[in-house]
Amino acid sequence: LYLRYLQSEKVETIGHVAASLAHEVRNPLTAVMGFLKLIRNDSISIEKSRYYIDICIEEIKRTEVILSEYLSIAKPNNPIYEQIDLVQQLNSVIDIMTPYANMNNVALETHIKEQEITISANLNEIKQLLINFIKNAIEACLSVSDGKVNIRIEHGSLYSKITIRDNGVGMSNEQLERLGTIYFSTKNNGTGLGLTFSYQLIRSMNGTVSVRSEPRKGTEFIISLPITK
Ligand code: ADP
Ligand code: MG
Repeated sequence: LYLRYLQSEKVETIGHVAASLAHEVRNPLTAVMGFLKLIRNDSISIEKSRYYIDICIEEIKRTEVILSEYLSIAKPNNPIYEQIDLVQQLNSVIDIMTPYANMNNVALETHIKEQEITISANLNEIKQLLINFIKNAIEACLSVSDGKVNIRIEHGSLYSKITIRDNGVGMSNEQLERLGTIYFSTKNNGTGLGLTFSYQLIRSMNGTVSVRSEPRKGTEFIISLPITK
């Protein structure tokens, strides 16, 4: 009985890994798709299309990294932690997500002043985390006519505070309670893995996440991560 339990637990883990792999690869694919559609447009300048192609190359490279990281999960090696310029990464993720927002008629409003905020993190993980929250905020606005996503970052004494607010569908208390649990999704093609991954990562970084939400009004996530500088 004990053995069987261990075995099924292993199968379960592999299932989770496979599903989250698909999820994490889908985000960069969505970005590449968005840029390719922009490039196909005849009226686009050579410079612009070069710029978009460079972003596509970066995204594909990142997909390769994600794939190799997941393939190495059988023999887990610790992800590389480095000193990360959080403002720079947030700006780069906003660039990546802008076509997705435009495509869906959602305005991305950013209030990000030049400032130095350094955290200790794994680069791919932190990018994935930011993408997950911003993507969810954009998707929450799909059914509203005047969709807006507001993103800001502040430097506290010990923590950096990233706020992502949308005026989308919002959540009921029942939904709020299930947030971050594996496979919880209210979307037709959702995986319910994005926030599970993100919550776990925030916890592992000794950060916190808080959320306020009201149905038909919108949602605000505040992510606090310990800073090193
Ligand atoms: P997925 O996006 O694949 O559904 P996530 O783990 O990213 O999975 O999100 C889980 C669920 O949390 C979503 O399906 C949605 O119901 C809810 N959710 C997350 N972010 C928001 C948001 N900004 N506004 C409204 N609901 C949200
Ligand atoms: Mg999501």
